[in-house]
Amino acid sequence: MYLADETWPNLGTYFEEESLAIVPLGSTEQHGPHLPEGTDHMIAEALAREAAERTGYLCTPTINVGVSPHHRQFHGTMWVDAPVFRDYVESFSRNLSYHGIDRIVYVNAHGGNVEHLQEVGRRLHETETAYAIEWMWDESIPDLVDDLFERNGPHGGPKETAMIMHIANELVHDDRLEDARDGGLTEWDEMGVHGAKTFYDAADNTENGVLGDQTDATPKKGEELFEAASDQLVKLCDWLDDQPFEDLMPEPHVRERE
Ligand SMILES: [Zn+2]
Repeated sequence: MYLADETWPNLGTYFEEESLAIVPLGSTEQHGPHLPEGTDHMIAEALAREAAERTGYLCTPTINVGVSPHHRQFHGTMWVDAPVFRDYVESFSRNLSYHGIDRIVYVNAHGGNVEHLQEVGRRLHETETAYAIEWMWDESIPDLVDDLFERNGPHGGPKETAMIMHIANELVHDDRLEDARDGGLTEWDEMGVHGAKTFYDAADNTENGVLGDQTDATPKKGEELFEAASDQLVKLCDWLDDQPFEDLMPEPHVRERE
């Protein structure tokens, strides 16, 4: 069920019976010369809507702009500051709890959002408002991602390229896949100096903004990733729905030992 398509009486029926919401979040930021800037939010929305369709749970509209200042040197990248993003997602989630939602899955497809969503989840947990968890699609299927691609990359690489080929193939510039590979960084291994991370921006490491070997992506592999990640998401939603609310809430303060 997609919230924006429903009427309020229908939603009232949902809130009477269910208390789970799926919230897609991504970014609008450069994804190299070959992929659209909406890559992350398109992936998040497609997975969230697929899971909502399969399970009947509620999917909210997508939060399309996230925490992406580290891509700002590339044309068109959009972002909001991290504290604003946290407050916005927290307020958005408290709004859901007003209607009766007490468990939320943040379907995330942008690495820059992760720590902030975890912080929002912590705040909602602390106030016993809701149990909200962050879920990142590629982290739910690490073995498959490793098996499918030899030279992956955390950004604009073959896994995201394959996903967009599956979701919106018309937006992929497949005549630029070799350029994407040759102008970026194919071997990614967290760089740093004596244990310190010495860069802030994507532009510090990659000329064209992307990492990995994009020529390894195909729509078929994208479909495989999409199906496997959707299965994981459906299972996560069912698990979360099954938990008694008290079990999801914080432990009481420890007692003094006698
Ligand atoms: Zn991305």
